[in-house]
Amino acid sequence: MIHYSCDRCKKIIDQHDSLRYVVKIEVQAAMEPLDLDDVDADRDHLLEIQEMLERMEDEECSGAGNEVYQKLHYDLCSDCHRQYVNNPLGSELPVQIGFSQN
Ligand SMILES: [Zn+2]
Repeated sequence: MIHYSCDRCKKIIDQHDSLRYVVKIEVQAAMEPLDLDDVDADRDHLLEIQEMLERMEDEECSGAGNEVYQKLHYDLCSDCHRQYVNNPLGSELPVQIGFSQN
C-alpha cells in the first residue's frame, strides 16, 4: 500500500481518515504577445524571436530552463491545504478575501 506524506509538514497522510490534497503548480515566463500590426514592418524581429526560441531550447537541454518553465507537484494534508489556500504565494501578509473597507 502506498503511503503519502505531506510535502509541507512531512506528516503521513492516512487516507482512511484524512484527505490528501494535490497541488500542481505551473510556472512559465510570460512572453510578450506579438503585435500583428507591426509584423510587416519588423520582419527582422521574427528572426530574432526564432533565434531566442532556439536559444531557450538549448538552455532547457542544459538544465537552465527552469527559469522559463517549471511544473511542480505537492501532496498536502488537510491542515496544510487549508493554510496553503489562504496564502498560496507564501507572502508575509495573508491574502485578503473580499474588499478592504478603505
Ligand atoms: Zn501537512
